[in-house]
Amino acid sequence: MSDVAKTIAENVACIRERIRDAAQRGGREASAITLVAVTKYVDCDAVRALVEADCAEIGESRPQELWRKAEELSELSIHWHMIGHLQRNKVRRTVPCVALLHSGDSLRLLAEVDRVSGELERTTPVLLEVNISGDETKHGFTPGEMEGHLHQIAELGHVHVRGLMAMAGREGDLDSARADFSRMRELRDQLQKNCPPSVSLEELSMGMSGDFEVAIEEGATIVRVGSALFEGVLW
Ligand SMILES: *Cc1c(COP(=O)(O)O)cnc(C)c1O
Repeated sequence: MSDVAKTIAENVACIRERIRDAAQRGGREASAITLVAVTKYVDCDAVRALVEADCAEIGESRPQELWRKAEELSELSIHWHMIGHLQRNKVRRTVPCVALLHSGDSLRLLAEVDRVSGELERTTPVLLEVNISGDETKHGFTPGEMEGHLHQIAELGHVHVRGLMAMAGREGDLDSARADFSRMRELRDQLQKNCPPSVSLEELSMGMSGDFEVAIEEGATIVRVGSALFEGVLW
């Protein structure tokens, strides 16, 4: 095994241990939390090292990069996660590659995912991205429009909503991140009271390298960790 692969395997083990500890603090099972390794900073060799370290849930934030890596690594059993903003003209190439689209951030995008998925005779699992911090630079639905939209989205027969996704507003400020994550869980619980039967809000994708432990304590079921996995490799 190369030094880089070894370092990545050690980092994966370390992150998994931190996930376990955070789950325990939150009174939850570590097995209920999925680690998505975000590989936007690295090449295919690093992705191979992650898969060898038993980490085959891989996230990319740019569609072209996801297509390229998915094609080059097609012999591996990887579940690809699209975590960044997706333009409608990139839906057709993205849908067949992804296990979960985290960034369902507008009705127009979801309608296009539905249309294309129907043509391809498949159903695409998606999360609805919520702009929980209200930061103008971030994508996503406002918390207030979610309930109305859920019923519209539930009509899309080739889109399967599995939960919600969010990013904390201010990076590096753990208290404000915790408040954002806590409001996400409350929003989810609120929406679940009047949720169309075809929609599931089970998954909460929130937490990155700087705040994934806080996110887990507040109820995250999926964390998206990038830079912390490549310590000693890239920085
Ligand atoms: C890059 C990225 C991550 C991972 O961020 P790190 O801080 O490197 O862990 C998570 N989610 C999204 C949407 C991203 O773009």
